[in-house]
Amino acid sequence: MAKAIESRARLWRRAVTLAALMAASLSLYALAQDMGKWEIHDRTRPHPPVITPGTGSTQETAGKTPSDAIVLFDGKDLSKWHSEGNVPAKWKVGNGYFEVAAKTGTLTTNQAFGDCQLHVEWASPDPPHGTDQDRGNSGVFLMGLFEIQVLDSYKSETYADGQAGAVYGQYPPLVNACRPPGQWQTYDIVFHGPRFDADGKLLRKARITVLQNGVLVQDNVEATGPTAHKARPPYTPVPEKLPLSLQDHNHPVRYRNIWIREL
Ligand code: MG
Repeated sequence: MAKAIESRARLWRRAVTLAALMAASLSLYALAQDMGKWEIHDRTRPHPPVITPGTGSTQETAGKTPSDAIVLFDGKDLSKWHSEGNVPAKWKVGNGYFEVAAKTGTLTTNQAFGDCQLHVEWASPDPPHGTDQDRGNSGVFLMGLFEIQVLDSYKSETYADGQAGAVYGQYPPLVNACRPPGQWQTYDIVFHGPRFDADGKLLRKARITVLQNGVLVQDNVEATGPTAHKARPPYTPVPEKLPLSLQDHNHPVRYRNIWIREL
């Protein structure tokens, strides 16, 4: 009897210790979401847990778009886009997708957008090349200012606020929901742009929600300002709508099935 009570007490102590450890590790990661605590691209900032995304919900739509969406790429041509210098799009169109043409510069929409729901599908190169930021790097720039990082972050490490699904240099994703190189991945983004008054005073910051492969990776985060490399620049007055752009980071990242709904 005494032995049974003793082993029950031991089990209880173990459970309490385990619960305390789990709480500690969760709060450690919660701290990683706290903007004030971390330097930009801090290599010591904790990485989000790695998960395997499911299927269904907001997954690949295989060319089917909501009836009220503006289709920005339907698998055939880049007529809705242009390259730097306002010249026809230089990126390569393949069978149902297009690909970054290295060193041709940013690809930008002809139309300007502000508050929106945006669907983008992308795939990093297979076989992969390089490491860290030099591996399947591109990016979706809302209003040309706020980058949702596109990167091969499948079993490949970089600083947490620069991995796939990050609001670059500001917020790591809540989890790493990446698929392997070469596989199509989805971003479903809800974006509310910044607002300024007539004198250029900031009235509200930009807010961003992102689902990667159907999994929430950014939960209505407030951008500190435009995203940048090794910098967190402040807001400066901009119009309510600006063109959307995709980053040329010299890597042959592919895109397909891009549509947008204005809010
Ligand atoms: Mg990038």
